[in-house]
Amino acid sequence: MPYPETFTGFQVHSAATWTEFHKNEFQPKPFGDYDVDIKIECCGVCGSDVHTLSGGWGPQHYPLAVGHEIIGTAIRVGPKVTLIKEGQRVGVGAQSYSCLECRQCKNDNETYCRKQLDTYGAVWPDTGIVSQGGYSSHVRTHEHWVFPIPDGLPSAVAAPMLCAGLTAYSPLVRNGCGPGKKVGIVGLGGIGHLGVLFAKALGAEVWVISRTRSKEADAKKLGADGFLAASEPGWNEPHVMTFDLIVSTANSFDGFDVDAYLSLLDVHARWVSVGLPEGDGIKVRSQTFLANGCFFGSSHLGSRRETLEMLQLAADKGIKTWVEEVPIGDKNLAQVLQRLHKGDVRYRFVLTNYQDQFGA
Ligand SMILES: [Zn+2]
Ligand SMILES: [Zn+2]
Repeated sequence: MPYPETFTGFQVHSAATWTEFHKNEFQPKPFGDYDVDIKIECCGVCGSDVHTLSGGWGPQHYPLAVGHEIIGTAIRVGPKVTLIKEGQRVGVGAQSYSCLECRQCKNDNETYCRKQLDTYGAVWPDTGIVSQGGYSSHVRTHEHWVFPIPDGLPSAVAAPMLCAGLTAYSPLVRNGCGPGKKVGIVGLGGIGHLGVLFAKALGAEVWVISRTRSKEADAKKLGADGFLAASEPGWNEPHVMTFDLIVSTANSFDGFDVDAYLSLLDVHARWVSVGLPEGDGIKVRSQTFLANGCFFGSSHLGSRRETLEMLQLAADKGIKTWVEEVPIGDKNLAQVLQRLHKGDVRYRFVLTNYQDQFGA
């Protein structure tokens, strides 16, 4: 196959038709000195893909190919690339650019850079080209956001770690998750199940907090030490002011009693929200934080350093993402996104068989 001048991807043309995928050719951004072209092997399906395509997070640039849990092979590297070698198996997550020069970038906080760009749906400055994600033949990415995948980690296991895994891992390590700590994970979905796996791998006591007990058996299989069902009366009482850290992956705030959740935290302990529900969010009052002086915050992805550490930890400890593999194609994409929209997956779809659609 000749080296492609254009890439091919499964794009959606409007929010109103968000489950109709069209196999289109598109122009990637111009190849830069630090860029790596990656031939994609598989890609995880993130909740963001649904929120973005369906317009739930607001207007988007269509046509758009989403997907930001990408694994593939580096087939071309720019003349100034030092971090990646041609032929290497690599991954790309949800972020594809930051300035690398500002205060945040220089402190391992490049995911908070004011110039950060997303892997899909972002407009590249100067060119006006909209970044396209991993439901595609190839992706072109600056080396800083291209991560070598350790040999011990299968591609389909690694893919979901690049967004969901990192989203859970970064707030865990930044907020002291480790031996002797009691950590809560709210919501057992794509991010939540990786949160349980990583929090256990880091040595903490881990509790899953879900609405009902429907996922209790899965939580235990994932290694959770305990399970709380927030729909049960008085569910929080036995655990009030005992948690050191809670990472919330909740995807909806319908009927969410934030006071009951925050009551679980020890003095000055932290609540980190990483789920991004559609809609107006929740109201909190200062009084909510008084009883334990707790902190309420959020977290965005993670740094390159954290990504590499996370992948190595996963390889060393044999961490296994729970995945359902589905060959990429227009019909399968429509089904997979509708199932994800309903929460009908345990716990991550990974699109595979790229060679059948895009050639070897
Ligand atoms: Zn994502
Ligand atoms: Zn920056």
